[in-house]
Amino acid sequence: PAETTAELIDAHLLTVQDFPSEGILFRDVTSVYANGEAFASVVDAFASHDWGQVDAVLGIEARGFGIAAAMAYARGVGMVSVRKAGKLPGELLSEDYALEYGTATLQVQPNVLPRGSRVVILDDLLATGGTLAAVVTLAERAGWAVAGIGIVIALDDLGGRAALAGHDVLELSSYP
Ligand code: AMP
Repeated sequence: PAETTAELIDAHLLTVQDFPSEGILFRDVTSVYANGEAFASVVDAFASHDWGQVDAVLGIEARGFGIAAAMAYARGVGMVSVRKAGKLPGELLSEDYALEYGTATLQVQPNVLPRGSRVVILDDLLATGGTLAAVVTLAERAGWAVAGIGIVIALDDLGGRAALAGHDVLELSSYP
């Protein structure tokens, strides 16, 4: 039988102990994207999900960009880049969020889509959910409705699902 998306992710996922720092078990989704069959299965899963109307796909720097661009192309809609501070020009919205140590800032250009647009937000991995919650806030401040959130890998027990409560969250795989 054909492998499921979760099986393809598992087969191609590179897991590295103590990267980028001691004690972190790093799940490197770029190794999944590098395999054509696995990448296609991931993109097809996002693109074929019933999100209702979708006007654009938001990708979070950097491991959200490739999947967001591919899903946007498959659906025939635009792709919006959510970037780390200092990368995007023009009028911006900024949102700070907590990291394990300190804070970081994500930014978006609110004028690239009309208010009222329905957007899907894609990223590689859900841990605490701080990153995706910040992007939900950015989207809402821009006047966009969040149609749903797609993630390749969810890590269990780090609180990420609770941080995104109330949203349609499509997780393609999960790990302890
Ligand atoms: P969080 O905001 O805690 O949900 O963290 C999510 C972001 O941090 C994702 O965009 C990942 O790129 C990265 N990340 C956090 N933990 C890991 C991990 N164990 N392996 C790979 N990436 C991670």
